[in-house]
Amino acid sequence: MKMVDCTKGQVPFGKLFMTSGARKKANLAVEALQELAGAPLEYYAYLLTSQSEPNIVRDIYFPKNQSNSGAHTAVPAEEVVAAAKDIRELGYRVAGWCHAHPGFSTNPSQTDWQNNQDMLDQLAASNLYEWNRSLIQCGDSLDLRVDDKTNGNAKVRVLTGDAYVPFIQFEIETGGLYSFLARHILPRIRVKNLGMQVPRIAGFSFSIVVNGREGQEHSGITYVTNCGFCDTRPEYKFAKIPLETLAVPDDITVTADALMQELRGKVRGHYAGQV
Ligand SMILES: [Zn+2]
Repeated sequence: MKMVDCTKGQVPFGKLFMTSGARKKANLAVEALQELAGAPLEYYAYLLTSQSEPNIVRDIYFPKNQSNSGAHTAVPAEEVVAAAKDIRELGYRVAGWCHAHPGFSTNPSQTDWQNNQDMLDQLAASNLYEWNRSLIQCGDSLDLRVDDKTNGNAKVRVLTGDAYVPFIQFEIETGGLYSFLARHILPRIRVKNLGMQVPRIAGFSFSIVVNGREGQEHSGITYVTNCGFCDTRPEYKFAKIPLETLAVPDDITVTADALMQELRGKVRGHYAGQV
């Protein structure tokens, strides 16, 4: 028998959107930074969304004094706090992070996976997604046991065979003849699939890797769910999800000059000193 798998097909968001302006900014920043520094540099930015639509990135925010090389980016702890204060004043929500791989593949590095988890740790308590319902399906047949034969109710246990969630219990209130039937017939039923609807909550954080070329971004979601049935072991999950451009009327405007102005003084390069 297989364990109950609630997580199958249950990624909190199936898509990530960026407004045209935000996507342009994320990619143009790679070029702008190279021009400022005289060498290719990574950068680190927060993905900013509205409070109510956390999968639509409306702007990206570069924390100050970030230290970057051609293959590394980091932000000092005190600047994380300063950025959080600033972003709150702007009315945005941080839904994840974005960083650059200047001139190379956007496939995440080992460090990037660790950063995805660190970012989730920072955001999970406030970045919540709630499912109203979800479906549990079990691929193999399950055992039904009727435990309580003493009163009118049938207490049914579905044995899952999983060490962590050995059974799921239901109480069926019947009475009279039905009670008799429930006790005698239910144990004989072979259950192949069990569909259940349960409320679930996930903490999540998005990640985007850019290399300056729109369409080549690597985008995904790191998340952790709480579920009474299957998530007894805390576990980070990651799903690669597609990134799509969204045209919005109140989009940010992006120009190379303004972007260089914004990056100047915020980004520190190992190659060229302060840029
Ligand atoms: Zn990276």
